[in-house]
Amino acid sequence: MKKLYLNKGKEESLRRYHPWVFSGAVHHVEGHPQEGDLVQVYTAADEFIAVGHWQIGSIAVRVLSFEDDPIGHDFWVRRLRAALDVRRSIGVAGHPHNDTYRLVHGEGDNLPGLIVDMYGKTAVMQAHSVGMHVSRMAIAEALKEVMGDALQNIYYKSETTLPFKAELGQENGFIMGSTPDDIAVENGLRFHIDWLKGQKTGFFVDQRDNRSLVEQYSKGRRVLNMFCYTGGFSVYAMRGGASLVHSVDSSQKAVDLVNANVELNFPGDARHKAFAEDAFKYLEQMDENYDLVILDPPAFAKHRDAIRHAIKGYTKLNARAMEKMPQGSLLFTFSCSQAISKDQFRMAVFTAATLARRKVRILHQLHQPADHPINIYHPEGEYLKGLVLYVE
Ligand code: SAH
Repeated sequence: MKKLYLNKGKEESLRRYHPWVFSGAVHHVEGHPQEGDLVQVYTAADEFIAVGHWQIGSIAVRVLSFEDDPIGHDFWVRRLRAALDVRRSIGVAGHPHNDTYRLVHGEGDNLPGLIVDMYGKTAVMQAHSVGMHVSRMAIAEALKEVMGDALQNIYYKSETTLPFKAELGQENGFIMGSTPDDIAVENGLRFHIDWLKGQKTGFFVDQRDNRSLVEQYSKGRRVLNMFCYTGGFSVYAMRGGASLVHSVDSSQKAVDLVNANVELNFPGDARHKAFAEDAFKYLEQMDENYDLVILDPPAFAKHRDAIRHAIKGYTKLNARAMEKMPQGSLLFTFSCSQAISKDQFRMAVFTAATLARRKVRILHQLHQPADHPINIYHPEGEYLKGLVLYVE
């Protein structure tokens, strides 16, 4: 196997099980690895420290194991079984009313660069590294073994997540089975999952617990679900007894999806309406007195250098909403930008409250759910944060 030697002293973060080797830490590499190849990582003192996938870019290696393990079928089975055990123990897998969950969350499951979401009997697999792409068929085989009958199809969806420069030309498609059935169940509610064309793996699995909280507070409220996408929050609010639910997204496709999902669960229910409109424009022009508002925008900061701009965006968005909310209303506000910290987001919302001249109390601090675990040695895995505010 190819061997990578670190500069002297650069093994410290690996000794703390951080799963990345940055290119600046690399002294030299033996054997001319191609991107995606396995490499063994050695200290300057010639001591084995990790094995992982070689990459081109600022992260040179994504670590698969800190043991000198062969990375083959048994390894993938072990890792996937460990991931499934977690989902079983928290009750999202093998549940009679829930078959939608994240089975593999990259570094959070010691599988850097790999995402697997389960929708019924279909797994949607997404590679974010060339190494995971190269291993996709081996992973699919292992997945079959671990999941047994609970898995019939694997859709591979990495067209937009693989490093662009690797020029792999990968197209999305089934690598095992195939099915026209696109309905999955989350907490007893049914959703069409557009794994063929939808964002991420087709659904925002990460908001499951936060949707339940919206359901809990929806009774008799007039709900605005801004940035609704597939309408997860809207459908939960309806089950929670909202008196009215309005869903807004700038994309007409999203509006079609939310309408289809509401119809699937509450056919003919006149409480719901969806609008294809820009969020800022809608907030400015709306004359409805919504007393439960959800703001779940796309990541405003995709990179570190966009942070200041993003903070301004969160401030403006939250201020616009708070200005119009009646007394005693609830605001569920989120940021899924990994580059924005919890404190930065809270500060942006604080500034928004000041600008809107509203008295605001924090009722809940929200985050990603347990099937999106954070590897304690890799705090970068924490990305979703939210606040539930009581607006006086
Ligand atoms: N809340 C959703 C996920 C939101 S994803 C869920 O629980 O599934 C972000 C959504 O914001 C996308 O559907 C995107 O189309 C929409 N969007 C992006 N910019 C927007 C804008 N300026 N106004 C309204 N919607 C926007």
